[in-house]
Amino acid sequence: MSKQKTTSRRSFISKSLKGGLAIGVGLSAAAPLLQAFSVADSNTVSQFKTGFDQQPLPYKYDGLENVIDTMTMEIHYSKHAAAYSKNVKDAAIAEGVDITLGLEEVLSKISKYTVKMRNNGGGHYNHEMFWQCMRAKQTGNAPTGNLQAAIGKTFGSFDEFKKQFTDAGKNRFGSGWAWLYIDKDKNLKVGSTANQDNPLMDVSDIKGFPLLALDVWEHAYYLKYQNKRADYIENWWNVVNWDYVQQRMETYKM
Ligand code: MN
Repeated sequence: MSKQKTTSRRSFISKSLKGGLAIGVGLSAAAPLLQAFSVADSNTVSQFKTGFDQQPLPYKYDGLENVIDTMTMEIHYSKHAAAYSKNVKDAAIAEGVDITLGLEEVLSKISKYTVKMRNNGGGHYNHEMFWQCMRAKQTGNAPTGNLQAAIGKTFGSFDEFKKQFTDAGKNRFGSGWAWLYIDKDKNLKVGSTANQDNPLMDVSDIKGFPLLALDVWEHAYYLKYQNKRADYIENWWNVVNWDYVQQRMETYKM
């Protein structure tokens, strides 16, 4: 590790400790920067800590009708997502994970676990977050306050952000997710992951704390949109819960 990197890492840890966070982080000088980041992360964002059980859907199956049809929502929540929750608990028991702890701890070290844990742990986390990222349709749905300002500062405009995020979802080949996330330097970023990976995972190409998640697996839209993923994404903007996205950002930045 270069001197410069060591210094910035120490400075990060010292800042984290000053805030009463990240106890026990960074005791090993050989630990990579990201490891310190990940552990600090899950403490910092305890409000959003994700358990292993599936939480109730925050609306009815027909709550987002016109954007996501009732049957898709019912199958997606009660079959696909329910299976990820069941399977990640099975994997956790088999691999000796304490399921009273947050799933984030496991995801940040997912390279140490099985493929079953990676696929189902990611699948459970991503869907729990995805449901919260949506709410009933509103007119003129757009971010406000600090989130609006941060998006404007980072991407130039809300429209430019939407374009980049939409492209991330459209261009993800096969199954995966589009993300708005905040990286270790507290910059907003847009990206995508394959399958059920997410930015919390140590194996992910994009790393940070996710703020907004979009499922672009065919099971998320095929009954209503068939092959037209772009139409699904365009409509989806109408039901984004910007208050939730903002809460995630504010909590992370504190
Ligand atoms: Mn899904």
